[in-house]
Amino acid sequence: MPKFEYAPAPESRAVVDLQSSYGLFINGEFVDGSGASFKSISPATEEVLAEVSVASDADVDAAVKAARTAYTRVWSRMSGADRGKYLYRIARILQERAREFAVLESLDNGKPIKESRDVDIPLAAAHFFYNAGWADKLGYAALPGGANPQPHGVVGQIIPWNFPMLMLSWKIAPALATGNTVVLKPAETTPLTALLFAEVCQQADLPPGVVNIVTGAGPTGQAIVDHPGIDKLAFTGSTGVGKMIARAISGTRKKATLELGGKAANIVFDDAPIDQAVEGIVRGIFFNQGHVCCAGSRLLVQETIAEEVESRLKRRLETLRVGDPLDKNTDVGAINSKAQLDRIIALTDVGEAEGAERWDNGCELPSKGFWFRPTVFTGVSQTHRIAQEEVFGPVLSVLTFRTPQEAVAKANNTPYGLSAGIWTEKGSRILWMADQLKAGVVWANTFNQFDPTSPFGGYKESGYGREGGRHGLEPYVKGTH
Ligand code: ADP
Repeated sequence: MPKFEYAPAPESRAVVDLQSSYGLFINGEFVDGSGASFKSISPATEEVLAEVSVASDADVDAAVKAARTAYTRVWSRMSGADRGKYLYRIARILQERAREFAVLESLDNGKPIKESRDVDIPLAAAHFFYNAGWADKLGYAALPGGANPQPHGVVGQIIPWNFPMLMLSWKIAPALATGNTVVLKPAETTPLTALLFAEVCQQADLPPGVVNIVTGAGPTGQAIVDHPGIDKLAFTGSTGVGKMIARAISGTRKKATLELGGKAANIVFDDAPIDQAVEGIVRGIFFNQGHVCCAGSRLLVQETIAEEVESRLKRRLETLRVGDPLDKNTDVGAINSKAQLDRIIALTDVGEAEGAERWDNGCELPSKGFWFRPTVFTGVSQTHRIAQEEVFGPVLSVLTFRTPQEAVAKANNTPYGLSAGIWTEKGSRILWMADQLKAGVVWANTFNQFDPTSPFGGYKESGYGREGGRHGLEPYVKGTH
């Protein structure tokens, strides 16, 4: 396949007004944190983007108190229709400022601008629009509480670095629509769009204290988890931290939803349209550098077509453009952090040592920043660690199967259960497979499609609770999780 050279097509950074340092957003204002600060860097260049405050226990306490006061005095007394107006306003501002958010997200996270521009930010706005529509119709949503569902009160929300704004919207939009107030902590490597969102809350005249943003790493998250003033927790992140949170709140009255890791099977049958399946495999594992909890990281391909799929896939991967996240032609951006890059290197080294065959697309990588070539392991067996553990990077493990029963058994042989994909022409097989697979989301002849109206969440060690759709409102009202 010919390789095309593309002229540089950089998106301008000028739209972003980066400040050299950021405080915490508590009670509607930016305040200095009482702790130290940390640097948020661009993973593509290692350039320091800004200094960001570390919220101490005292800062978290102030944020929780502000959220409580806003809840009792303002937000819980407001009609759903009025809450909805604020959410619509936020959604419209996100659309108006979409370019600014997309550029900042790509700078801070390393993801390609075409993804932040076309996926992350439009979907984040869509989640606010969608939940705004529910705010005055909760009594018709068949929620616990029937005609009058009740919010929990103050919600603590902790999100990861792979989709910073999108995860923020998944958390904040349903919480506010149902009448809760929020203390949210973004991940320590990607705090900047959450802080820009704080500006949007000001711009929308959201009553002070309804949304509070505290920045910092694990200890700040722990302070939220442990704070007695938190009524409910919503966490997205690693299974390890999710388990710690579950332990920390057991025996307390706190409710929680946890969205954790995944090791999804993307299953390709011999009657699948192969070129489309190859596009779906690429979308499944190389979208967002593979930093996707529902990524299709295990390709299960029917034995009779395995060689053909592998060779077409490798040919396609040779055309992926890896590099500057702000270039509009870039397909695969930077790995989010040095720590994550080290994890990917360690686990792929194990893959090789355990006997799987390693291939990468051989592309040139920039000299600065954190990068990893799109990589495929073939000859992988069920016991290999790269078949069992989440790599959370642009690394695909290929396994084969002969019968649908074997595909199901292999797909379900994982501690996780977040998502799966099926590629076949046969509708009845899709339905049979979807019924057998222990996965919260099953995509048929597509992969990594997201929509605010569709619930998302896991089985087993992938967590509990659903986000998105009507189901995503449930954890935010009394009587459930
Ligand atoms: P990842 O492996 O995706 O970085 P983590 O689970 O470490 O996932 O991080 C997800 C979020 O959880 C981040 O915002 C992080 O700061 C936060 N976090 C990390 N450790 C803890 C902890 N002990 N308690 C609460 N939050 C934590």
